[in-house]
This record gives sequence, structure tokens and C-alpha cells, in this order.
Amino acid sequence: MKRRQFLSLAPAAGLATLPATFARAHGDAPHALPQAQRRAVGDITVTALSDGGIALGHAPLQGISEDNYAAILTAAHRDPGNFLSGVNAFLVETGDLKVLVDAGTGGAFGPEIDNLPANLAATGIAPADITHLFATHLHPDHVGGAVRDGMAVFPNAELVVHDADRAFWGEPANFTAMPEMMQNFAALAQGVLTAYGDRLRVFEADDEIAPGLTAMPLPGHTPGHSGLMIASGDDSLLIWADIVHVAPVQLARPEVTIGFDVEPALAAATRALLLDRVATDRLMIAGSHIGFPGLATIARAGDGYLAIPAAFDYGAA
Ligand SMILES: [Zn+2]
Repeated sequence: MKRRQFLSLAPAAGLATLPATFARAHGDAPHALPQAQRRAVGDITVTALSDGGIALGHAPLQGISEDNYAAILTAAHRDPGNFLSGVNAFLVETGDLKVLVDAGTGGAFGPEIDNLPANLAATGIAPADITHLFATHLHPDHVGGAVRDGMAVFPNAELVVHDADRAFWGEPANFTAMPEMMQNFAALAQGVLTAYGDRLRVFEADDEIAPGLTAMPLPGHTPGHSGLMIASGDDSLLIWADIVHVAPVQLARPEVTIGFDVEPALAAATRALLLDRVATDRLMIAGSHIGFPGLATIARAGDGYLAIPAAFDYGAA
């Protein structure tokens, strides 16, 4: 199905056909180079890992006309008809710990977006080396890659997730009256919780996950949606997960929400608060859906914001 057809079907069919429709070939060329990029945060190393790119389009966004969507992307020198959002995960290495922040789609959005395993392997790290899988939330583009055929992909990792996401996605009764897509999302989340059942670690606030790594609840997109603050010496980096999905648009217009938000108004309020903070503090952020490698600082621009991509870290590369 072409994206145009999807757009016309979306209202009637819910968003059930979303995953396959949004898939775009990205890293499946026979000799694709690894898409991994390393950065030092004090004594901690953060490696951005690409899983691929995804074309969300205007359809799932709420609170903006298609014309205004196109105008913002055009002003940002992007093609509104083919704008890809990154799907990024981040490997955080500190001491003996290897913390993978999200695990990619695992093919949940079609085989074209499933590049994380190869890119992780290219860094020389095996799934068994991962000590913690920090799930920013239990959506399939973040934990689809945590399981294959019902089995945990990271056999030694603790799954670290906010208790509110465990409770929300882990209860099948929450989804019986929901559209098929949400039921599929929930089934995948429940499969992940089951696969890591005896290695599940929940947090409820800004808990320290490991030395220098602190959870930051950012509720709205999902009930337990959380970032991870990384701090070492004078350096810091906030992995802010899904604060934006179509970055140029939601930075320029932070009130624009997306159909996957469980509580859209709360997601927008969380986004507004965090954007003000990171712009004021010039805090470097890493986004799950900002173009790879997804690291930027955020500057005020007009009534909104824009992302300034982080300088390449030649020393850590
Ligand atoms: Zn996401």
C-alpha cells in the first residue's frame, strides 16, 4: 500500500496498518557501513546506534494543518513529502556496565527497519554483553528488538522500566476496546515483560539506575515514558527519548502531538517544560527520533525552538 492510500484509509482503519506502511529501506544495502557514532560524556561513553529511518508523514500529527506541516519542513530544508524520522538507540558504557537505552524495532515495523543488531555488532559488543536494557517506554520501536520469537535477545540484561509503563502495558484488559494497532503494541510489550520477567527492575521516580545514570520520568507519551540523564565530571547528556517524533515540526510548534501519545495534553506539557529547561541550560540531548545520531542542543527560535546538531566528537570516534 502506498502512503497516499494509507492516508485515505487511516480514519476508518485506525492506525492498524501503520508499521508496514511507514517502513523505508535505509541500511539494507549489501555493503552498508555501520551507523554507530561514539561520544564521551566525562568518563562515560555513549554510542548512538541507528535502527533505520521511518516516514511518519503528517497523518498521525495532531494540532497542525498539512499546509503548515509542509511549510515548516520546507523552511527547514527538508522534503515534506519524504521526511524520515530516525529510530535511534544508545549504548551507554560506564565502568563494567553496558546499558542499552532502547532496543530498536526488531522488525516490528517491517524488515527494512531492523539495523540495530548489525550496528551493535559492529561496535564489537554482543547481546550477551549488555548488562541493562533501559526501556524509555514499551512502544515497539523501543522494545521490539528486545525479543525474537518470544525469547529475550539480551540474555544477561536487566530490563529497567518505569513502573507506570509496566502497569499500563502489562494489563491486557486495558486494551480490549482499543484499536487493533494499540492491541498489537500491548501484546508486544507484554511479550517483552514476560521474556524478562525474572530480570525486571522497575523505578517510579528519578532513581539512580547506575552511577552517573539517573532516570527522568517524562510522562504523557506513555504513562511511564522516561529519559535518562547521563552525568560525569562536568559533562552531561540527556537521552530524552520521544519528546519529539517529527523534530523540526514539534520543536517549532511544541503543542503539536502525535496519535501514539497516550495522554496528548500531558505529553505536550512535558515537552514544553523540558524544551524550556534544555534551551536555558544548553543541555545536550539525544533523541530517539531526531535524525541520526540524534544528538543536539536546543535553541529558542521565534515562538518555538530548533535543534543544533552536536559537534562530532573526534576524540571518541
Ligand atoms: Zn518512539
